[in-house]
Amino acid sequence: MSDTIFRSRPIGNNTWLIQGDGSNSYLVVGDKCGVVIDTGFALENIQKYAQSLTDKPIKWAANTHGHFDHTGGNGWFERAYMSAKALEIAKIPYPSKASLNYPLDYLVTVVGDGDKIDLGHRDLDVIEVPAHAPSSIAFLDRRERIMFTGDEVDNRVMLYWMQDEPQPTIEQHAQNMEKLLKHRKEFDFFCAGHVQVMGDASLVEDYLEHDRRITSGLIEGEPMVPRGHAPGNGPDPRDFRMYQIEFKRTSVYKGTSLGYDLRYVHNNHR
Ligand SMILES: [Zn+2]
Repeated sequence: MSDTIFRSRPIGNNTWLIQGDGSNSYLVVGDKCGVVIDTGFALENIQKYAQSLTDKPIKWAANTHGHFDHTGGNGWFERAYMSAKALEIAKIPYPSKASLNYPLDYLVTVVGDGDKIDLGHRDLDVIEVPAHAPSSIAFLDRRERIMFTGDEVDNRVMLYWMQDEPQPTIEQHAQNMEKLLKHRKEFDFFCAGHVQVMGDASLVEDYLEHDRRITSGLIEGEPMVPRGHAPGNGPDPRDFRMYQIEFKRTSVYKGTSLGYDLRYVHNNHR
């Protein structure tokens, strides 16, 4: 397909990265059917594009969390798998997209810890990891040894994204990383929502160390500096509200960064 905004490349057996607008999307195909993990928010039909890559039926989407840059393309599919918390926001376009005509009439299956999406001799196991978003889940693909982590593990992780109160804590993020690492023998790679594609699974360990350095008081991140919005650089300013910037910090460790709120390091912060 040449007349399309989508680009794709195979990243493993029956596994493709698709990029259009918004988040990374991943086409994961089993013996019976396939699913697209995160659907971006391009207005072009991503289901049709994904279907052009394989003969197996692609009728399902699955979302790592409910942010619209990951869910906007769901309406091209018959059904989307997501967490209960994702369902609260998944069909609400970001303010900058509010006037656009997204298909939002699709069925949803709510999933949580212990659920599986069965693609035919290839399952995606659901693992709840709420921090960057309260709605976050990861998908473990044991067959191809990949963990799909959404925005919870990537080169840059921001725990305060679009949330006022309650805010996620570093301690919660650390618990999530420990939960993922219980499966460390079952995955070698991780695929994230924006930057890292088939990254080395050891980055999850780095993030846990990152969390520990902050929770132990060993380091405090750098204060956040307000920056003007340059076109093409980061999210549309209409879509992103930064609450109480004076409390925000960015910690850098081994080339990864973690944005957090100084007041929300420990779970019992009050
Ligand atoms: Zn997000």
